[in-house]
Amino acid sequence: MSDKIVIGGVTVDTRHWIGGERVASGDTFTDHSPIDGSALGEISRGTPTEAAAAVAAAKAAFPGWAATPRAERARILHAVADGVEKRLEELAVVETTDNGALLRSHRRGVMPRVAHNFRFFADRLLTLGHEDFDTRGHTNHVSWDPAGPCVLITPWNAPLMLATWKVAPALAAGNTVVLKPAEWSPLTASLLADIAAEAGLPAGVLNVVQGYGSEIGDALTSHPDVRRISFTGSVPTARRIAASAAVNLTPLSLELGGKSPLLVFADADLDLAVELAVEQYDNAGQVCLAATRFLVEEPVAEEFTRRFVDKATALTQGDPRDEATDIGPNIHPRQLEKIDGFVRRALAAGARAVIGGHRLDGQFYAPTLLTGVAQDSEIVQEEVFGPVLTLQTFSDEEEAVRLANDTRFGLAATLVTGDRERADRVSARLVAGTVWVNCFFVRDLQAPFGGSRHSGVGREGGTWSFDFYCDLRNTVTAPKGWTDRG
Ligand code: NAD
Repeated sequence: MSDKIVIGGVTVDTRHWIGGERVASGDTFTDHSPIDGSALGEISRGTPTEAAAAVAAAKAAFPGWAATPRAERARILHAVADGVEKRLEELAVVETTDNGALLRSHRRGVMPRVAHNFRFFADRLLTLGHEDFDTRGHTNHVSWDPAGPCVLITPWNAPLMLATWKVAPALAAGNTVVLKPAEWSPLTASLLADIAAEAGLPAGVLNVVQGYGSEIGDALTSHPDVRRISFTGSVPTARRIAASAAVNLTPLSLELGGKSPLLVFADADLDLAVELAVEQYDNAGQVCLAATRFLVEEPVAEEFTRRFVDKATALTQGDPRDEATDIGPNIHPRQLEKIDGFVRRALAAGARAVIGGHRLDGQFYAPTLLTGVAQDSEIVQEEVFGPVLTLQTFSDEEEAVRLANDTRFGLAATLVTGDRERADRVSARLVAGTVWVNCFFVRDLQAPFGGSRHSGVGREGGTWSFDFYCDLRNTVTAPKGWTDRG
């Protein structure tokens, strides 16, 4: 059986990458393209044996990489970024084929951000530090020591972007990595291994193991040599990982789901509000940060809905490789089934589909807006992860805040208002790791990123990433003359 897949002239190795070598498993799983459901090829299906081998390789490579001077680590990470930029078009084509997100977004937004992830953390590494401070003549010196092998587990909705947002700071900090990409979109992680090797990253510093989380997850997350686990994915998986990590008290960072609100006040610029609202269909609604609950002040609700429907029904749905396409397919038939189940139950419970509310041919779901939904209903409380939005109204600021905060999540919140004081007042009361005021999806790697409540544990980004991926140490040195004692 071939251990290569060729997509648009790009060859992707389908084996694991362990200790600087390609390693095949005895068994494989089939990777499909969401664009037409076709089989792309067979991927090495990891077992606990490969998981343990990858951790062993990461452990063996750790002392060397941790001792590599910061400037040299930064240089290699910039070389990885150069490699990403050189192969940007290839990465974009492979990612689109593998996960169905828009080619134009991968070309212009996502893959440049992948390169930026490496550049940002390489540069940040060089300025990392804290001023020494004094305690009764003693000097305190804070250092960020690399923690050791890190297990990084990522989902399918933005595969390389989310993987490198963890890989880059973990490596910059001097750690070694075992990356486990999602089984529905494993291909660009394999290309990253090639790029990193070409950039001069030593063998074993980055390892990639593929496979089902249910089959190899536990072997990775309960391994005693693993010093950090960073996970992006769903809440149920996070619970399993947290339980598994508890065995060794391995520190965890969890970036999970959301059910974020978009609050539209009557004083808002409605054109802006509608523009931001329509963006929530991006990536066919498979975005953790998506503001899937529209909360609109009563006097403008009708007008907002009318303008939203006009704009949303003008979106083009189709092949994500086509420049004119706005919404591509959903990732997998199982995900479509899940999305449709949510909508069918909501409709049965009395919701009304203003638009959509049904499947389309192939792996597509009609962009949907539901009204007549109760605050305590499943469709308002649970993450759908598809192009399904709800609309509720509110009568005053107090009710807006109450509805916005009344889920178990707390990832993000967006509010649209023309009143600066209201913006300050309301944003201070929203439970969310990120609040956007009159904008959406403006992201900066300097910012702390993460979720509150069931949307996550911990924050990554900027120096917070280094805090997570390092063991912080304070060295206290006695005042001069201490050597004279006794
Ligand atoms: P998922 O939890 O099903 O899978 C995520 C990853 O975990 C995959 O690689 C999977 O193989 C692995 N996994 C599964 N079981 C495991 C186990 N027992 N041990 C270890 N690993 C295991 O999530 P998904 O469906 O791939 O992704 C969608 C979810 O991710 C949504 O809830 C979405 O909101 C969330 N997400 C969050 C963010 C964020 O930054 N907060 C970003 C993107 C996606």
